[in-house]
Amino acid sequence: MAQIEFIDALSIDEGAREASELFESTFGFAPQGVWDAPGRVNLIGEHTDYNNGLCLPIALPHRTFIALSPREDTQVRVISTLSGGVVAQADLQDLEAGAVEGWAAYPIGVAWAMRERGGFGDKVRGFDAAFSSCVPLGGGLSSSAAMTCSTALALDDVFGLGYGSSDEGRVTLVNMAIASENEMAGAATGGLDQSASLRCQAGKALLLDCNPALSAVESVSQQDFDLDTLGLELLVLDTQAPHSLNDGQYAARRRVCEESAKALGVESLRVLADRINGLPQTERAVAVDALVSRLDSEEAKMRVRHVITEIGRVTEFVDAFKARDIKRAGELFNESHNSLRDDYEVTVPQLDVAVDVARANGAYGARMTGGGFGGSIIALVDKGQAAIIAQKIADEFESRSWNAPRALAVVASNPAERVR
Ligand code: ADP
Ligand code: MG
Repeated sequence: MAQIEFIDALSIDEGAREASELFESTFGFAPQGVWDAPGRVNLIGEHTDYNNGLCLPIALPHRTFIALSPREDTQVRVISTLSGGVVAQADLQDLEAGAVEGWAAYPIGVAWAMRERGGFGDKVRGFDAAFSSCVPLGGGLSSSAAMTCSTALALDDVFGLGYGSSDEGRVTLVNMAIASENEMAGAATGGLDQSASLRCQAGKALLLDCNPALSAVESVSQQDFDLDTLGLELLVLDTQAPHSLNDGQYAARRRVCEESAKALGVESLRVLADRINGLPQTERAVAVDALVSRLDSEEAKMRVRHVITEIGRVTEFVDAFKARDIKRAGELFNESHNSLRDDYEVTVPQLDVAVDVARANGAYGARMTGGGFGGSIIALVDKGQAAIIAQKIADEFESRSWNAPRALAVVASNPAERVR
């Protein structure tokens, strides 16, 4: 059986050097600076952000580095270690939403969003940039947010916008990164990824409340998440399952949630989640049944059941973790995955099998993380067990002739920052 590959995080020195060297060899001069932003892994609270719900991401040690220099004109030139030596170009003047093709839409869209959506106009000009990254692409660990958020922080810095230096200010950069993904790259995304990349802190999980009525400061609280002192590890494993048929699935889930909220007479499913999760634990299941019985379609019933119970699990997980009740925290991982598998129907066999193998080999709990339809799982395990369990999953995948998964060793890391 083949040995499982662990994706190492680039050190700051390595990442900054790679990005700077690519910049210099491409553009012929040194960059003005280097910034980085992390990928993220969501501990619990999946498909809740666009329902004004709760989620709980941590920032990864795995980051995307951007070497950048501002320009006087409105031209943009970008290259990535992954773009096959090709420089993508665009002119921000008269650029329209959706006009940039391919990966370059993510970084160029941030400058576009700052000018067209953020109201910064000509304060934000063109730039040259080179990217280097160790965040797996399309693995559910948010390489896209690592790219848009590192770009947002770099542009904020070189054009003197002044939002990057405070947590509150960073919310503006979060919104620019979201606008780039939604409107330029055409990727529907609810805000979890970008908030995590710009607002998570080292050693903490970010309890993010996506209720838009809350102020920036009210919307987050930092929760201790130091696994080492608890004798634990978090295994993150990218299943490398081919992303199939996920086009339109995310949008379809979102639509059912919005239509169901309307049918139930509330602005968002969050309102109902608060009502139900405010009841004593023993009364909740009956209350959820009564609620979903008011919906016509079986599909809507299942989707709403997931969202309501998942929002409740975030609060419960935070409480269990605070009380050091790791057994309960693990059970909540399991309940979350089962709900995503059975009610939200966003798992694929690779995700289910990886989770099953982790559970059978001593994990306190395991679940898929990210949007689903492929991507990654996480498992809460005793210290020293992550590599062993990852190997067991890899062996099982090999015996089924699936793509080899890749693992990441992860601790809760710091948010986007300037490194040079
Ligand atoms: P995820 O965010 O889960 O990794 P997405 O599909 O949202 O998956 O984003 C992946 C896309 O982001 C890639 O297909 C590519 O277009 C772009 N991307 C992210 N990181 C890089 C990078 N370092 N170089 C080039 N493109 C990147
Ligand atoms: Mg993404």
